[in-house]
Amino acid sequence: MSEEKSEGKRLEERLTWKFPHIGKAAPEQIEEAAVFCEGYKAFLDRGKTERECVAQIVEMARAAGYQEFDPSKKYRPGEKVYVRNRGKSVLLTTFGTKPVREGVRINGAHIDSPRLDLKPNPLYEKNEIAYFKTHYYGGIRKYQWGTVPLAMHGVVVKKNGEKITICVGEEAGDPVFCISDLLPHLAAKQNERRLSEGLKGEELNIIVGSLPFVDDKVKEPVKLMALKLLNEKYGITEADFFRAEIEMVPAQKAVDVGLDRSMIGAYGQDDRVCAYTALMAEFDAKEPAYTTVTVLTDKEEIGSEGNTGMVSDYLKNHIEYLAQMEYTDPKEVFHHSMCLSADVNAAFDPTFSDVFEANNSSYLNKGCVLTKYTGARGKSGSNDASAETMAAFIAIMEENGVYWQSGELGAVDLGGGGTIAKFITRLDIDVVDLGVPVLSMHAPFEITAKLDVYHTYKAFQAFYR
Ligand code: MN
Ligand code: MN
Repeated sequence: MSEEKSEGKRLEERLTWKFPHIGKAAPEQIEEAAVFCEGYKAFLDRGKTERECVAQIVEMARAAGYQEFDPSKKYRPGEKVYVRNRGKSVLLTTFGTKPVREGVRINGAHIDSPRLDLKPNPLYEKNEIAYFKTHYYGGIRKYQWGTVPLAMHGVVVKKNGEKITICVGEEAGDPVFCISDLLPHLAAKQNERRLSEGLKGEELNIIVGSLPFVDDKVKEPVKLMALKLLNEKYGITEADFFRAEIEMVPAQKAVDVGLDRSMIGAYGQDDRVCAYTALMAEFDAKEPAYTTVTVLTDKEEIGSEGNTGMVSDYLKNHIEYLAQMEYTDPKEVFHHSMCLSADVNAAFDPTFSDVFEANNSSYLNKGCVLTKYTGARGKSGSNDASAETMAAFIAIMEENGVYWQSGELGAVDLGGGGTIAKFITRLDIDVVDLGVPVLSMHAPFEITAKLDVYHTYKAFQAFYR
């Protein structure tokens, strides 16, 4: 029997391209990826809000030898610094051996995720149940948030300036909170609604209590009881909600998914999966050639607005400080810099295959996704990375054994979305999107594959090498 390949088969191998499944191409990496993802799961559980993420990132950075940045100091290659922006976003830098005049390498991910924020005046009582009113943050499918156990996270700044940190629903034995939904027996009318209105915005009301403070003189005794319990635990009163930021998030912890444990299910993987992998790559950078700037930012889910989001100049200011330390014009630094906009993409979902274009989708277990453009319709709102930028990043990944794939955000004209990429391109920097494919993105329970998380880390590591 001849083992010889036919001419057509040889030509096919030489001329066509398919991204491999890492589980087939490199099965020995399954275990490495699983080990890496244990740290990631712990990171997810410790940081369910942007503030909690910044707090744990700074703690981890200090333990890894990072010091608070001082623009008046001189730093040597290999020295590591961090900058906190209002407790909601953070920058980390490892100084490189080359002068910053030759550019810096930026990796930006976001640490905010879609959720339910409490309204400024949230607490009310109706038919002897106490509730919180919420206003959703970011793109959620509202119907997914009913009958899901929720935890309460946030801060309250009291009148005397004292800042109280709130966290209920995360410790073993903690109570959780919930939005109710109708039983099927009474849902005939609700079932006629469009799915986008399955639960309406003003129906995202969170049950917080059902027992009264017993006193016939009190008009809203269940609300009063809830306030009494909050006051006992946190020393706050109803007026303090106006000086608070309280976020209701899924109480579920990060867990393995599947009999083979190949996937992770958790809240907030968009985009903490890229934040964690970027952070680990930043920590690994010892004496990189180019100075690194890892930016873990806030507000991406509402358009990168605000002074802790990427519309703010805080990244620009940081790079300008780095330039000034070398008496270099920052414009020169920007122009020679490269940036990864580290964000997730939609993984091809076989159950809903018609919203994807199979040849240009990302798949679980094929590695990190390089996304040339995001945007909607005719690439509107996209930075659309150049062929040169794509070539530069593909080369970095291929030279370092990174499994990567290409992906678009769904089929043409079926939707779209954006990332922080377009805000960074405004600085005259080459940017492309790279991240992890996610199933059920923006749902209370999102799914990623461990091999993809691992190879996204490897891509970021290679970028900083
Ligand atoms: Mn994202
Ligand atoms: Mn998102």
